[in-house]
Amino acid sequence: MAARRTPVCLTIATSDSGGGAGIQADLKAFAASGVQGTSAIVGLTAQSTVAVTRIEQVSPAMIVEQVRVVLEDLGVDAVKIGMVGTRETIEAVATALDLLPDGTPVVLDPVMVAESGARLLAADAHDALVGRLLPRTTVVTPNLPEALALVGRAAADPIDVSALAEEVAALGPDAVLVTGGHRETAEDVLRLEDGSLVRLPGVRHPDGAAHGSGCTHSSTLAAQLALGLPLAEAARVARAVAGEAVRNGRRDVGAGAGPVDVL
Ligand code: PLP
Repeated sequence: MAARRTPVCLTIATSDSGGGAGIQADLKAFAASGVQGTSAIVGLTAQSTVAVTRIEQVSPAMIVEQVRVVLEDLGVDAVKIGMVGTRETIEAVATALDLLPDGTPVVLDPVMVAESGARLLAADAHDALVGRLLPRTTVVTPNLPEALALVGRAAADPIDVSALAEEVAALGPDAVLVTGGHRETAEDVLRLEDGSLVRLPGVRHPDGAAHGSGCTHSSTLAAQLALGLPLAEAARVARAVAGEAVRNGRRDVGAGAGPVDVL
């Protein structure tokens, strides 16, 4: 019998020079889940635990080529899309997604604003993210502010998260996972393709370190899908792993938001 191939995950995302979030967090999360991590770097941030001071995008041709060459040799069992930054980059990512075999799971983390408050998605890129990426997404993983932004709603109080997940689902992804790490309940709400809802309870870790928590969550989710878990099970694992990574987060590096520790 042939040996089982190690699953391969691809992150299409942006580098964080501080090592806390972005590509660096994604590759650590892939390693922690036991899959082979690969990356198509679409942009660079000059970033510390305190601030993002500069952002540059990689050329569209280079974005597509990174995906093409990885696919051709290693194959890709699941994709995570993270910070994409600009409209032009989103177009290149959409072109790259066309290269994937049908049925490859795509996890989209709609990164918009950093924990530090830095804006990570250009103002004019919102429509491209919604129009070009959401319809080809297996599961989108917004936190509450991102979910509200996706549907163009202001924060209301109280928020009906299941109704919000339904509104996001109407934009075209197969499934929606509204993450709850920032809410009092710490509950994730998963709306599956058939319209059913799964509530994933969690524990808040207010004394943890959360920089990179969203990246770690969505990458772990992609890795668990690559390993063959059904979506609800993969979401449960991602919730638990990201929660532990926050709890174990490194409060002893940098002057600002400490990074999660997934390993
Ligand atoms: N920098 C990059 C490159 C990211 O991809 C992200 C989030 O996805 C962040 C910063 C923000 O991370 P956080 O909000 O966890 O601080």
